[in-house]
Amino acid sequence: MSEVPAQTARDTTLLHAGRAEGKGPVNTPVHRASTILFDSVAELETAKAARFAKGTLFYGRFGTPDTFAFEDAVSVLEAGVATVAVPSGLAACVLPLVAFLKPGDHVLVADTIYEPTRTSLNAFIARNGVAVEYVDPRADLAPLLRPETRMIYLESPGSLTFELQDLPAVAALAKGRGIVTVCDNTWATGYFCQPLALGIDIVVQAATKYIVGHSDAMLGTVTVADAALHKPLREAANWLGHAVAPDAIYLGARGLRSLGARLKQHHATGLELARWLETQPGIARVLHPGLASHPDHAIFRRDFRGASGLFSVLLDTTDRAIASRFADSLALFGLGFSWGGFESLVLPGDPAHARTATVWTEKRQLVRLHAGLEDPADLRADLAQALVRCFPT
Ligand SMILES: *Cc1c(COP(=O)(O)O)cnc(C)c1O
Repeated sequence: MSEVPAQTARDTTLLHAGRAEGKGPVNTPVHRASTILFDSVAELETAKAARFAKGTLFYGRFGTPDTFAFEDAVSVLEAGVATVAVPSGLAACVLPLVAFLKPGDHVLVADTIYEPTRTSLNAFIARNGVAVEYVDPRADLAPLLRPETRMIYLESPGSLTFELQDLPAVAALAKGRGIVTVCDNTWATGYFCQPLALGIDIVVQAATKYIVGHSDAMLGTVTVADAALHKPLREAANWLGHAVAPDAIYLGARGLRSLGARLKQHHATGLELARWLETQPGIARVLHPGLASHPDHAIFRRDFRGASGLFSVLLDTTDRAIASRFADSLALFGLGFSWGGFESLVLPGDPAHARTATVWTEKRQLVRLHAGLEDPADLRADLAQALVRCFPT
């Protein structure tokens, strides 16, 4: 799986999705709007009645033609039928929880989800009488289902530690039981993995990451496989007062057109670095699902067309100061949160404090890397000099 994934029909559809074809500008013009004017009261009332339906121009908060065009393009990317754009990735993660969970419901949540989503579940969703239960991301969920289980929330691969979930198996378990399945697909995007095609009901994305792709906007998307799930999400977005700024939509729509080309390079560089790091002194383990050494590599080969640029390494030390020195020694890897832009990043991480259903016993220091679009040889040389500095032989 080191070779760069081939161009497929997915590349063609992604370039044409959500665009008016033919005469005129290539891209959907940006609309800046709060008030939308109508010709008559009757027309205004028709729009109001349909305000939660896809593509209804009613009031700025509900979206404008560029929002709808972007949402349509993301639906194509994710093999879904409708998308709701929201102001951040975290807003996307939280939206299905608000839309579908009510007091008395039970939700199973993969223990390895993005930590701020976990905070929202614990501090906000649980407070409203929802039983939030974290589970080992590799556990068989069948024995954990309750009559009141309403949702299974997944993220594959998991944040920091990259465990994969068996999405088709979870989807099959939930079907026919009134359980909504949600998967955070930020790592792969629909370009490399389509959870909706594997039976999952809802995909959430931090479009902030690879879709925007240049570290310059916050944006989230929620995409559904079944049109019936769209309206509850739209309504919940309105309860929360969500509105997405036109510049963010513009940058998301622009980013989508080069997503495939960028992801292919992230795939190649990430795997090249991961493979090389596996052979380096100072590196105890590399956590990358595209490596044959990864415990879930078989699932990766079955469900993913490629890998993005984000993975972790375990340094051969339990000393936090050495992990900090490693990160500080890198010149081409910027130190900061988020990822998915063109640039390489490094971040020391500690999974232990963000796990409750599983125990992270590993004492060796974890460092997360994002392989950007620089020359892989330059990135390798940078990693090599930092390793020499931290692990002198
Ligand atoms: C970054 C991230 C988010 C949140 O996205 P923001 O746009 O930063 O709010 C959600 N899920 C995953 C997996 C992420 O990595």
